Amino acid sequence: MPDNELTQLIAARVLSELQAPAVNASEPDRSPYRSYAEEARACRTTAGMRLIPIGISARHAHVTQEHLAALFGTGHHLGVHAHLYQPGEFAARETVAVVGPRMRAIESVRILGPVRPYTQVEFSRTDCVTLGLDAPIRTSGDLDDAEAVTLVGPHGSIRVRAAICPTRHVHLNPAEASYYGVEDRQDVSVHVGGDRALTLELVRVRVHPKVVAQMHLDTDDANAAGLRGGEGVEITVC
Ligand SMILES: [Zn+2]
Repeated sequence: MPDNELTQLIAARVLSELQAPAVNASEPDRSPYRSYAEEARACRTTAGMRLIPIGISARHAHVTQEHLAALFGTGHHLGVHAHLYQPGEFAARETVAVVGPRMRAIESVRILGPVRPYTQVEFSRTDCVTLGLDAPIRTSGDLDDAEAVTLVGPHGSIRVRAAICPTRHVHLNPAEASYYGVEDRQDVSVHVGGDRALTLELVRVRVHPKVVAQMHLDTDDANAAGLRGGEGVEITVC
């Protein structure tokens, strides 16, 4: 085959690859876990079996209304990509790029809604390695020594002290907490079965009237335990 024909063939192939939708383009932050909708369905089934369902928190961001405006434009409201298992919470259509030290970036970090009183980015330790960050392990909202990162949206960017690795935690409402005999901010152990069975310790109990029982793990813990989201566990009081 003449060289110019080969070049044209390769160029055409490259072009068609670029134009094809990327694998998992609709869920860049979920694979290899269940999609948000599938996980919520699996959690409902698990809860029906009187076990605490697991929600896997892939990297995500929470934003204030003010920061949402800076990133997406004045008056912007979050759109719903998928409803989460927790009542009223949703994965938004909006994603941001997060830039860390040394100009390393992770793209397509999904915003979880609704907007909050603080802006926070939750990463796994593996994400921190990618970005060159040393984010502290903290409970949601405890941002005093969070790492500074830059969030980039289509309208603008913000630099904010917002990056944490979330503490392992289990959400319970007051009735569920009294059923299990635990209190807000108490630490419990959770045994996960299966091929990569392990026991997770220092799982922080968080009691709030507007939640239903669910344990939240980041993707590092989920991977260590071989989880896909929606599996069931029981808690053990330490
Ligand atoms: Zn949570």
